[in-house]
Amino acid sequence: MKDTAGFGTRAIHAGQSPDPTTGAIMTPVYMTSTYVQEAPGVIKGYDYSRTCNPTRTALEQNLAALEGGAHGLCFSSGMAAINTVLALLKSGDHVVAGNDLYGGTYRLCQTFYAKFGVSFSFVDMSDLDAVAGALRPETKLVMTESPSNPLLRLTDLRAVAAMCKERGILAMCDNTFATPYLQTPLAYGCDIVIHSVTKYLGGHSDVVGGALIVNDDDLRQRLAHFQNTIGGTPGPMDCFLVLRGTKTLHVRMERHAASALRIAEALEAHPRVSRVYYPGLSSHPQHDLAKRQMRNGGGMVSFELDASVEDAMRVCSNFNVFALAESLGGVESLVDHPVSMTHGAIPREERIKAGFQDGLIRLSVGIEDVEDLLEDVDRAIASLDG
Ligand SMILES: *Cc1c(COP(=O)(O)O)cnc(C)c1O
Repeated sequence: MKDTAGFGTRAIHAGQSPDPTTGAIMTPVYMTSTYVQEAPGVIKGYDYSRTCNPTRTALEQNLAALEGGAHGLCFSSGMAAINTVLALLKSGDHVVAGNDLYGGTYRLCQTFYAKFGVSFSFVDMSDLDAVAGALRPETKLVMTESPSNPLLRLTDLRAVAAMCKERGILAMCDNTFATPYLQTPLAYGCDIVIHSVTKYLGGHSDVVGGALIVNDDDLRQRLAHFQNTIGGTPGPMDCFLVLRGTKTLHVRMERHAASALRIAEALEAHPRVSRVYYPGLSSHPQHDLAKRQMRNGGGMVSFELDASVEDAMRVCSNFNVFALAESLGGVESLVDHPVSMTHGAIPREERIKAGFQDGLIRLSVGIEDVEDLLEDVDRAIASLDG
């Protein structure tokens, strides 16, 4: 397959070729922990499955091709992937991160790495002056998510990456919400892309996994060292499931985004909805950046009801097609009340300051028929009046 092949062709073929012994078109699930050596220390490419496994290699190459990167590294979860990046740091180092990071990433920083003398500044990544102002001589890493969760704020990836490059700081982008179909942060100058492949890349809510994609050979070496040393690596069956997911990523993302836009427009016109957050709407404060940086608005929509916590919880419980659950990115639609679910750990004052109110609701728009989804949203919001 040519490097210049389109996204869909890469999604289906990159890293994969028919099995040479049987012709099997699907990558075999290599359920083996170890590999026979030809002579002591003489290996045919694999020695132990924590270090590497052929099913994992296929996935690592596939994800690298989708992100337009040279190297992929796969992990047992998104958190294991992020942990491996933070393992590059040492005591005294400083990190600048978004103030609306995924909760688990925030927890890893604050309850784990802070103990070892790494310090963190959490800033609004949509404010470039705030990012520049937070950088110090000892800053080694900038971590961002674009779009962010749950307010779908964007980071100008090109601008932040340029700021980092100038100062020799690593720029890392969590591309879980956007997926490589919408944007490829390496192309904007970022050094590291991280994914929770649990979400859109897997796409079917049946596997937990993570990945890193980089271009630089030396950076790849250092990350692979800690990947193998820490050991948060995925099993071959998990890799197989993600490979099956990525084959349809482009088709799914088109549908997720088309339906999300329809729902965002309907919400914007709804009298009970005070605010809608969706990068694909022209009312999004960074819509121009979204048009420049992303192929479409993606599949996540958040909206605010002028409602108490209890009323918002009642609305969330009144969906029939959307399932009330954490996580996102699967074929099935999910509804989340961040205040009582995914973001429950954030103190009320802090989250109000960060911009999200008691009545905020987050939708992961699936690929069911959009008419059914629209009807479901309407019915759930109508429960405010009954
Ligand atoms: C889910 C998620 C993670 C963590 O990934 P896991 O696979 O759950 O470990 C990290 N970042 C973002 C943006 C996520 O949505």
